Amino acid sequence: MTSVKTRFAPSPTGLMHLGNARTAVLSALAGERFLLRIEDTDLERSRREFVAALMEDLDWLGLIWDEGPSGPEPEGDYYQSCRVDLYRQYYGELEQSGRAYYCFCSPQELEISRKVQLSSGRPPRYSGKCSHLSTSDVTRRLQEGVQPTLRFRVPKGEVIEFDDQVRGPQRFSSDDIGDFIIRRADGTPAFFFCNAVDDALMGVNLVLRGEDHLTNTPRQLMILQALALPRPDYAHISLIVGDDGAPLSKRNGSRSISQMRQEGYLPVAILNMLARLGHHYDSEELLALPALKAGFDVRRLGKSPARFDPVHLDHWQQLAVRSADDAALWSWLPPDLRVVVPVEHHDEYLDIVRSNCVFPEQAEQWARVLFADELHREPEVAQLAEQAGEGFFLSALDAAQTAPRDYKAFLEELKRRSGAKGKQLFMPLRAALTGRTDGPELARIYELLDPARARRRLAEFTYVSE
Ligand code: GLU
Repeated sequence: MTSVKTRFAPSPTGLMHLGNARTAVLSALAGERFLLRIEDTDLERSRREFVAALMEDLDWLGLIWDEGPSGPEPEGDYYQSCRVDLYRQYYGELEQSGRAYYCFCSPQELEISRKVQLSSGRPPRYSGKCSHLSTSDVTRRLQEGVQPTLRFRVPKGEVIEFDDQVRGPQRFSSDDIGDFIIRRADGTPAFFFCNAVDDALMGVNLVLRGEDHLTNTPRQLMILQALALPRPDYAHISLIVGDDGAPLSKRNGSRSISQMRQEGYLPVAILNMLARLGHHYDSEELLALPALKAGFDVRRLGKSPARFDPVHLDHWQQLAVRSADDAALWSWLPPDLRVVVPVEHHDEYLDIVRSNCVFPEQAEQWARVLFADELHREPEVAQLAEQAGEGFFLSALDAAQTAPRDYKAFLEELKRRSGAKGKQLFMPLRAALTGRTDGPELARIYELLDPARARRRLAEFTYVSE
């Protein structure tokens, strides 16, 4: 059996967002070999820096391509802008066999024809005006300096069928498809053409891409057939929508992968969220890439729009933080925290981060609560302290004096002195020591806090100055 070769073929005209990241993730999961090809034929909109950003994002996500730029082959093999000579050869073949012809229609003419068809209720399609020009007409127009486009001659009365791995059997009539442009007037190749030709030449045998490309597929299959090139299998995946049901955009939660990286998302969280969007895994645990791959089956992808839920994303993020090892956590945290957290408390601090934090800024707040003097207090703190009364804090101060770093003994002593218990005991204590009303277990906080700092914080609510 031939192995499955998939590809990710981004156009470097912007940053990678959740939508195209999902195509990349699912393509990498579906293929035994995974290829990266840069579709930079739109010379005006394609940018080198977007190529670099795309590769950085793929790298960060752990989606390592087996073939593509920065591999052993010449770099240019995987950039469409460098493959023009090769495309020329295939254009020549199509011209020779009469399957492509020069079209001299101007954009204005085409626009008028389009409007006329639309206003009479017909789907806009190329009229075929240039499809039977004589050789002398063509020569004359070329001599006049008109730059033609090259159009593919769509055969009449054919049915194009394929079995989509997500959407099932598909059937299109060639009579519904007008002759389409395969080379623009400026000589650059059009998407339908170079995308299909490259898949064939690069041995891609499963094209996994967004369902917005579904109607392009019959055109591409006709090109491949005309060139006697192998046809791949197709899997057109549903688009991601936001929780409002609209296509994912900035408004309903889409972000670029690089922005998410800056926000502190961990790659394995994004991988789990994307791989599970519209695809069921038996395991509900956070899975690393090889396990996600092992449990993935294209044919199990749902057909309905995949709904992005930020709550799911944060669920995976929480599990990712919990299971991150020390080195991964340190590199996830702001670099200056290494200075804030004393070396002898690194392990305890990382445990607190794992069980209490989802984003680096929370970890940073806890580092400051535990290891810095300055304390930001939530508004509820003052009220809690007032309810507890000064006597409570005086007792707490005495207890802290007697039992530094020993939470059990401290608590016993405080209970004995103040008579407080339950919420009346823990809430004001937590509020005074951390400035907050939630967080890690008090025992861990008390044992980590420098005793003098703990006493100063308790003394803030008394007349005593520590
Ligand atoms: N460059 C195309 C895009 O980014 C690729 C489409 C495909 O995967 O075939 O939409």
